Amino acid sequence: MRATVLHGAGDVRVENVPDARLIEPTDALVTVSRACICGSDLWPYKLMKPGEPPRCMGHEAIGNVEAVGSGVSTLKVGDVVVMPFAYSDGTCAFCHEGLHTSCVHGGFFGTVELPGAQAEAVRIPQADGTLVVLPVRADDALMASLLTLSDVMGTGHHAARAAKVGRGKTVAVLGDGAVGLCAVIAARRLGAEQIIMMGRHPDRIALAKQFGATDVVSERGEEAVARVRALTGGFGVHSVIECVGTDQAMRTAIGIARPGGTVGRVGVPHYEAIPGSEPAFYNNVTISGGPAPVRAYIEELLPDVLEGKIEPGRVFDRVISLDQVPDGYRAMNAREAIKVMVKP
Ligand SMILES: [Zn+2]
Repeated sequence: MRATVLHGAGDVRVENVPDARLIEPTDALVTVSRACICGSDLWPYKLMKPGEPPRCMGHEAIGNVEAVGSGVSTLKVGDVVVMPFAYSDGTCAFCHEGLHTSCVHGGFFGTVELPGAQAEAVRIPQADGTLVVLPVRADDALMASLLTLSDVMGTGHHAARAAKVGRGKTVAVLGDGAVGLCAVIAARRLGAEQIIMMGRHPDRIALAKQFGATDVVSERGEEAVARVRALTGGFGVHSVIECVGTDQAMRTAIGIARPGGTVGRVGVPHYEAIPGSEPAFYNNVTISGGPAPVRAYIEELLPDVLEGKIEPGRVFDRVISLDQVPDGYRAMNAREAIKVMVKP
């Protein structure tokens, strides 16, 4: 089959690989009808070191169940399913606590261990716990929004929850990629009163405003901190949603949190120690967050997508074929595209 393989920094190829197939009795085999390129895919795309083994990329997809193992009981051939970016059994202590990314039988797609979904097909471990059957046909108009339940909408929601967004709260979102934009949707959905988008790309800002952002701050660093304070009566915001993962972004996040506020971080951290520990300490700022257990949120978010109350699928601004995936990486890395959908 055809699949996306990252060989090195800047070197992503679509090539022939061994067919995905059932290995464990708890596996399902899914034919991918839609996948996407994630902002987090850009980190290894930019930074993969020489000597690291190649890996089949992709951790977001909707597809059709092609085959199931003998131990799979809730899925049947032909089901339209969405996969979260992590697989999980749905039965262990952490899954019961809603923290599926820490499942004792879990793991992540698109790693050296488990080939990813930017491919014609993907093997799904722990299929009963991992996959969610969608009550739609494969050509449904809602497919773009449903696809975001794989990652970006669930991750934006997790960030908002981690940042303790709630009714009447003030919120700032750092990062104007697809996750940041979905975090705006999530913050509004959870009742935030003021949502400050930190970004400077006109198309992304326009979308953020349509999703519910009330203010935009385009400055960076200390100037950004001063602007957010000015917009919030001098104190900063209750909830900071950090969707970048750099040292600078975390410093800014702590700088704009009001005393007693919370930073929810979902940007994969590219710093060794969390910066800003002194201002965080003196302001009693909570630092929270991590990889989103998106599997825990699909049932909660799915009705809003099906009813059209939220439209996270609008973050997709480019659709490509599998063979065009290398150009999709280039376009997202150059910030020409917010999020790229792949139709194998
Ligand atoms: Zn589990």
